[in-house]
Amino acid sequence: MSSCSSIKAPEDTNTTLSYLGQDVTQWRDEINKKYKRSEKKDTIVLFGGFTILQDKLVMSALQSLGENYVSLPNPDFESFRKGKSFGNRGQCNPTYFTVGNLVKYLLNLQEETGMSSEEIVKKYLYVTAGGCGPCRFGMYITEYRKALKDAGFAGFRIMSFQHNEGIFQAKDDEESMDFSPKFFITLIKAVIIGDILNLLTYKIRPYEVEKGSTDKAIDACHDIISEAFMKKKNLVVAMWHCRKVLEGVKLNRLQPKAKVMVMGEFWAAMTEGDGNYNLHRFLEAEGAECIPQPIIGRLMLSIWEAEYAAKKVEDVEESSASSIDFSNAKTKAMLFLAKNGIKTYFNLYTKAVGLHEYKIPNIEELSKLSRVYYPLDAEGGEGHLEVAHLLESVKHNLSHLVISVKPFGCMPSSAVSDGIQSLVISRYPQANFLSIETSGEGAANFYSRVQMALFKAKQSAKEEYEALNIPKEIPAKVHNYLYQPKGKMAGSAAKLIESIQQRGL
Ligand code: SF4
Repeated sequence: MSSCSSIKAPEDTNTTLSYLGQDVTQWRDEINKKYKRSEKKDTIVLFGGFTILQDKLVMSALQSLGENYVSLPNPDFESFRKGKSFGNRGQCNPTYFTVGNLVKYLLNLQEETGMSSEEIVKKYLYVTAGGCGPCRFGMYITEYRKALKDAGFAGFRIMSFQHNEGIFQAKDDEESMDFSPKFFITLIKAVIIGDILNLLTYKIRPYEVEKGSTDKAIDACHDIISEAFMKKKNLVVAMWHCRKVLEGVKLNRLQPKAKVMVMGEFWAAMTEGDGNYNLHRFLEAEGAECIPQPIIGRLMLSIWEAEYAAKKVEDVEESSASSIDFSNAKTKAMLFLAKNGIKTYFNLYTKAVGLHEYKIPNIEELSKLSRVYYPLDAEGGEGHLEVAHLLESVKHNLSHLVISVKPFGCMPSSAVSDGIQSLVISRYPQANFLSIETSGEGAANFYSRVQMALFKAKQSAKEEYEALNIPKEIPAKVHNYLYQPKGKMAGSAAKLIESIQQRGL
């Protein structure tokens, strides 16, 4: 497993160098980690960056641990502008949106409360995932610090945990955040439940009879789950209560809508706002059903990458007959436990809420699909996943259109994956694939390109549906979201008709 932690910054933070005959001072990342657990009742911990529902659920989940966690609002264009104003040039746009979002929040806080910068720096801190690797993700924390300093919040504390180092990152140290296994397990439970409710939202909302009824039901589910976290109630039972709420949404599922897989760079594909021009809502308004990428997919990719790295270490040991590295064996055991723990929670919650059809992404299977196209050793961004998603959609007829969303300035997604996608498309010309960049500007061009690709997808969905022999009598259960038959058709309505015919309903 690669790690940045072995790279030590020089001690001297004020090195003066001579450049073109002038004395210049080398910029250093000044790390302020002053935090005592005893101060926690006076400290507000900010975080954000998941979907809207997940941010809210994570806030309740972490508050239930006794810490004062507050989620930031969803990043918008104003966040992006703040990110560009205070950040370095040439960053990928998730950096601008997320860094700018924190700057925007603190500036608004200052304006609304009249607190001084020093008071804000003393009372607030921000927690985020850190990481290493060949993409700009490894630089995010430095970007936060640089932008905050330039915005007047020098010394603001940015705390991080490593996204690829599992749940045992806690330091038994009064001077650090409590990143204990309990913290991560609670966080992961909230993320998984958020993923499941998001997946259901995207399945149900395009077919709702009364506009807004799905969002209302999901709000009620949020309240149920939040209360379960705060009052330490059973989450499986809470998901069962959500099932009853969701069943109350009246649906007309026999509408042949284009099914669109939305994938690409993790943040750009997942965010639900200006960061991708509200792509999911736009597609639904244009008559499509989205297949979103749940965060759990990224989590499973991180575990797979760590397993892959551990396997390579093992192969070297075997071939060189060197002694067994027990730390590698321990890593493998931890990864096995993490993977199976996530699967267990996921299966318990999906069963309770009634998401029968969805299977947790199998990264090993996806890697087999993509490895002839994408070298599995190449990490960064979504690794081989983007190529694998297009291949699985074409080979298993999962959607009428695959949209790959890539932020402006993203190296792994634009430069690597898209180069390879052109080879995939040349071998599978039937694929309806759109790779589209989000720059934070140029929305009209973005929407117009999506509409063009969607036109073809809608035609395919209509033709697929109309080629079927539609029965005169339709059983009522077809309109209940709990009825999720498997089938060969891509469209949901076509799949339902296919199942009625096959089962003689
Ligand atoms: S994958 Fe791309 S957009 Fe995402 S952090 Fe890395 S460089 Fe930026």
